[in-house]
Amino acid sequence: MKIDITDIIERDGAVKHFVTDVDKLSDRNTGSGKSIVDVQGVIHIEGEIYNHEGILDISAQIFGQLKAQCYRCLEDITAPFSVHMEETFERANGSKNLDNYEYSGHILDISQAVIDSVYLNIPYRMLCKSDCKGLCPKCGSNLNQKECGCIEQSEENGRFSALKDLFKE
Ligand SMILES: [Zn+2]
Ligand SMILES: [Zn+2]
Repeated sequence: MKIDITDIIERDGAVKHFVTDVDKLSDRNTGSGKSIVDVQGVIHIEGEIYNHEGILDISAQIFGQLKAQCYRCLEDITAPFSVHMEETFERANGSKNLDNYEYSGHILDISQAVIDSVYLNIPYRMLCKSDCKGLCPKCGSNLNQKECGCIEQSEENGRFSALKDLFKE
């Protein structure tokens, strides 16, 4: 994700429009275990870079596909996402604001900024649909697909044990 900024870097106030596609975002480092929601396929990025006395303000929109497992029923989900990115780059070795990214020379590498923006903004977990019924805790059936009947049974048992508790007192 490298953008040639030769044409704007020497001109204060210059703006560069860019469009780029990235095949693979990164291997997400999740530390322990597999991430539940991740990015899949090509990422499309388009935006503008504004040169303000060597400080580069970048404003971009990032488009891609999410791949996830529903956290209730574990069905596979793919869904489009769109994330806005607003970041500032300063020359390396300058007196740098810690919130900003660095660049050097005539090439702006926006990889880390894009990765950060995407992973900060995509959901941590997803549902296949807002009213997903999930899996039966007893038999494991996907309750979106069939009514296994276990839950009605356990509700009856629950009422019965509440009654037993009454008699205990
Ligand atoms: Zn689901
Ligand atoms: Zn069941």
